[in-house]
Amino acid sequence: MPILQRPNLTVITGALVTRLLFEGTRAVGVEYLHSAMLHQVKVNREVILSAGAFDSPKLLMLSGIGDAAHLQAMGISVVVDLPGVGQNLQDHVVVSVVYQATQNLHFASTSSIGEAGLFLHSEGNLEATPDLQFFFGPIQFLPPGYTPSDFGFTGAVTLTRLQNIGSVSLRSPDPKDTPVIRLNCLQSEADVEKLVAAIKLMRQLFQDSAFDEFRAEEVAPGADVISDEALVAYIRGTGSTFWHSVGTCKMGTDPMAVVNPELRVHGVEGLRVVDASIMPTITTGNPNAPIIMIGEKAADLIKAAD
Ligand SMILES: Cc1cc2nc3c(=O)[nH]c(=O)nc-3n(C[C@H](O)[C@H](O)[C@H](O)COP(=O)(O)OP(=O)(O)OC[C@H]3O[C@@H](n4cnc5c(N)ncnc54)[C@H](O)[C@@H]3O)c2cc1C
Repeated sequence: MPILQRPNLTVITGALVTRLLFEGTRAVGVEYLHSAMLHQVKVNREVILSAGAFDSPKLLMLSGIGDAAHLQAMGISVVVDLPGVGQNLQDHVVVSVVYQATQNLHFASTSSIGEAGLFLHSEGNLEATPDLQFFFGPIQFLPPGYTPSDFGFTGAVTLTRLQNIGSVSLRSPDPKDTPVIRLNCLQSEADVEKLVAAIKLMRQLFQDSAFDEFRAEEVAPGADVISDEALVAYIRGTGSTFWHSVGTCKMGTDPMAVVNPELRVHGVEGLRVVDASIMPTITTGNPNAPIIMIGEKAADLIKAAD
């Protein structure tokens, strides 16, 4: 890549950042573990933290930025008491309806697998944004415990607007430990009811005559899973993250905000967060493109501050 030749760029792979370095409340560098040795790199201007929705709040907390009581319980010196760090975790929960197919569906090697999509408002949703997103593809996207067959297809649904908010906190002060992640999915009965209705809708779609030559047995939830109670049990047993976690260092100006509208961390100098964690509210669709936009916007903000 031509960019690697730039004199002002060094890329180090296989490194684990262990904490950010501070002088008072100014971020002055980064500490990282590489080849079993701790290294420090100092910055002239600012540190850009971009470790994602789980590790950005983890690194802030390991560096003394977070809820003071939590940091003190972990034995970490507090640089700034910022109670929003690690809070506001949001994600899209997904459940699927999976069929065996009567024949090979011959999807192209270039297929994205999610070949068709659909956004819908659930009954009673009067907001502008749809609260259900569907994906359809020519493979069996099965929950754990179900046996795949040779050919099949799937309809999957996510809630784009969950009522429950989760959190990320430290398990220990050891940077090598994973953080504690609480998604708090499906604590709201209203969310579960929406998914029950969405499964019924997908089943209805798959009964359309267009599927007659392709549709064999329903594998999941399964032809015997009919009642609302059985569907709720299926949803609670198989619903999972769609890996769209965001929101744990949210942008804003309220007391729970972690970064300001220029992505600078409140209460300290020389530190920005640029990744999925800064979203105050999860996007209605897939987050990757909006996160790339956050990166592009951050580049403009950083250059504008020159
Ligand atoms: C299996 C899967 C499928 C997905 N499919 C889609 C999709 O189809 N469409 C879509 O829009 N989104 C999809 N997503 C979500 C999307 O990939 C994420 O939302 C997006 O990549 C998040 O970007 P980010 O920059 O915030 O974090 P990340 O992309 O997670 O980048 C953070 C980086 O920081 C590194 N890091 C973390 N901690 C440290 C540390 N201590 N030291 C050094 N490095 C560290 C990580 O290794 C990682 O490289 C998918 C995610 C997964 C997991």
